[in-house]
Amino acid sequence: MRPDVLSPLFASLTSLPGVGPKLELLYAKLLGREAPRVVDLLFHLPSGAIDRRARPKLNEVRPGEVVTVAVTVLEHRAPPPHRARAPYRVVTGDDTDATLTLTFFHARKDYIEKLLPVGEMRYVSGIAEVYDGNLQMVHPDRVVDEKGFADLPLVEPVYPLTEGLALGNVRRAMEGAVKRLPDFPEWQDEAWISRERFPAFADALRQLHRPAEPHDIVPESLAWTRLAYDELLAGQLALALVRSHMRRQAGRGSASEGRLRARILKALPYALTHSQQQAVNDIINDLALPQRMLRLLQGDVGSGKTVVALVAAAAVIEAGRQAAFMAPTELLARQHLNTIAPLAEAAGIRVAILTGRERGGPRTEILDRLVLGDIDLLIGTHALFQDDVAFHDLALAVVDEQHRFGVHQRLALTQKGDSVDVLVLTATPIPRTLVLTFFGDMDVSELREKPAGRQPIDTRTIPMTRLEEVEDAVGRALNAGQRAYWVCPLVEESEKIDLAAAEERFTELRKKFGAKVDLIHGRMKGAEKDAAMERFAAGQTQLLVATTVIEVGVDVPEATIMVVEHAERFGLAQLHQLRGRVGRGAGHSTCLLVYKGPLGETAKARLAILRESEDGFRIAEEDLRLRGEGDLLGTRQSGLPGFHLARIEFHGKFLGAARDDAALVLNRDPALATPRGQALRHLLYLFGKDEAIKLIRAG
Ligand code: ADP
Ligand code: MG
Repeated sequence: MRPDVLSPLFASLTSLPGVGPKLELLYAKLLGREAPRVVDLLFHLPSGAIDRRARPKLNEVRPGEVVTVAVTVLEHRAPPPHRARAPYRVVTGDDTDATLTLTFFHARKDYIEKLLPVGEMRYVSGIAEVYDGNLQMVHPDRVVDEKGFADLPLVEPVYPLTEGLALGNVRRAMEGAVKRLPDFPEWQDEAWISRERFPAFADALRQLHRPAEPHDIVPESLAWTRLAYDELLAGQLALALVRSHMRRQAGRGSASEGRLRARILKALPYALTHSQQQAVNDIINDLALPQRMLRLLQGDVGSGKTVVALVAAAAVIEAGRQAAFMAPTELLARQHLNTIAPLAEAAGIRVAILTGRERGGPRTEILDRLVLGDIDLLIGTHALFQDDVAFHDLALAVVDEQHRFGVHQRLALTQKGDSVDVLVLTATPIPRTLVLTFFGDMDVSELREKPAGRQPIDTRTIPMTRLEEVEDAVGRALNAGQRAYWVCPLVEESEKIDLAAAEERFTELRKKFGAKVDLIHGRMKGAEKDAAMERFAAGQTQLLVATTVIEVGVDVPEATIMVVEHAERFGLAQLHQLRGRVGRGAGHSTCLLVYKGPLGETAKARLAILRESEDGFRIAEEDLRLRGEGDLLGTRQSGLPGFHLARIEFHGKFLGAARDDAALVLNRDPALATPRGQALRHLLYLFGKDEAIKLIRAG
């Protein structure tokens, strides 16, 4: 049960002043969550601040700077009756001989007279400019009397916004949210807190939302760092809970002599690379141990993870048990089936597929065979999680492209067996620091080398203005019998517009090159997608125009050209993935990144890295660095997916400490029953780790 003190923070945002159902929708967009709660708003930290502390006399005011001045109202100059559109001016002065004219457009006379009565003193804050030789301020941000001045925040936080939501709305709601902050029990180690000079959690939030000076709001500030550390600890604690939950159910150990493995390797048209061999050894060892395996297999696109996973599956199957192989999309699941089926047949492994497309009779038949143990390896999508999917004896779950699945989904699959071993495949190589963040202390195998015989991909960047040359070059290649992908621009969040762009390009290229051009996109039915993919794989079509559905994993070794249109709109990792679709066979491959100029600094740097390097690990690290810089430039595409407060470039150095701390806590207090343990439960709730809380051992 969530502690009662947290209740006000988990109330709907509409409980805050000025937030109605209409604004709630805008906040949902801003905060990236349906029905946002007070706590979600509190974690929306300022991107900067307006500093109103400069308090010059009028003769010292520098034009263009934000100032707060104390002035006496001297004279009102209402617009003459026949010129209602002229501004309303109010002349003010102080004890210097300078004056400041306050200018209002479309102002109501009675309102101004009330705001600035002649002869009275007012504090006025805003940016002054020189106009016609006079100092003037158009629409001051603030006009307050002595009493109002006492409450005026001289440093005002500025928040990232979304269209339709004004800064004033957010500040007002935030002020309400800050007032709701209760006193929390301290969940961090007291000694550590005082050594780092961290403020308490609630104080940290107050400092960030009511800064005393602009410097309070930078990510390096003690307040921000404290919150980031809280978030990291919550994450590490949740991972550790999941992990210990899994470890507690001791594994069973699937020993095998390697009979099936030998048959698979014999059926392969190639030999495993050294690192594939190493990964296989790691996994076989893990599987044989009477302990849960939690292993991450990291390897760049095309490094050959699938066959490693198959060999792992073969080991448990040889021990008379079952394996599941889960892919993020239908297309990939089918492709895995195609790759695996002939090898499985050679080894005598019984394979089936289960996706959203298997329905009715065929589905029932698969489920029946599965529960009887007549299927050894089940390949599929999310459909594998469904409640009625039951295995005879599931021993190994292989999860491809893990970052698309949440921890709870991983759990769901492993609960379909008795202490299931888990092998996670990631195609986006993740720098070591991030492995910690996302996966906790999982064991890691890396495929660092590419399979032999791969040739480097010739990567070029070409401005959109030379699109015709690109088309001609592709045309020549098609005539020479080559195969090419043409990926169409990713338009913001709108699949519809993406599709329109892809269809348009398809129509154009079709006119030019005829029936060898085909189209594939995310809105097509599964069977249509497969058919298009198969035609391309078989060489019936040669140019496949695509939206990013082909991003992950599609394997057609004969494809040698990748054109990416509007490459500047894609992320670095994404471009690297796309490029990885070619250069898989023996032929020399080219990647043409067509961009629309002028390019910003970051986009330039991104494309340059791709030209220079094909090392996915290096690219992933550069990506992080560039995204970090993007943050510094004020664009809020913040560093760590899934994290609101922690930024890898500022707070990444605390990850190790958070992990150690989490391990220590659970070691000493696995039920989180001590006072600190109880306090840590608050932390877990605040950062939405409810699933992990369910795994806390009963005390
Ligand atoms: P990914 O790691 O991206 O999932 P895949 O498993 O799809 O990579 O493998 C990419 C391609 O490389 C496939 O066509 C596969 O048959 C081939 N391949 C895998 N291992 C080797 C190897 N050791 N030598 C040659 N080709 C290999
Ligand atoms: Mg793959």
